[in-house]
Amino acid sequence: MICWKCKSDIGEFDNYCKYCGAGQGKYIPIYYRHIGIILLFFILGPFNLYFVWFSPALKRTAKIIYTIIFLALTGWFCYKSYLLFLQAQEMWHSFPTNLMF
Ligand SMILES: [Zn+2]
Repeated sequence: MICWKCKSDIGEFDNYCKYCGAGQGKYIPIYYRHIGIILLFFILGPFNLYFVWFSPALKRTAKIIYTIIFLALTGWFCYKSYLLFLQAQEMWHSFPTNLMF
């Protein structure tokens, strides 16, 4: 088995690399695994794609699917925020400002 981090040759059943200490298989850090990547999206937004693409635990197809899903969610969120902004602007302009000053 090859360590995903330092590319050293390690034992087939090693849980941690004996050269760099990186966890292997199910011992890969949580932020590189499915659950961590999904949780990170709620914290970092589309910046979680950094972890998606550097993850040694995800297959290439999973990375592509995650990228599409997270970008679509980001786009949807931006669109919703934009609508909210328009709504707020409309409310602001219908506000009787001449009574305030
Ligand atoms: Zn290593």
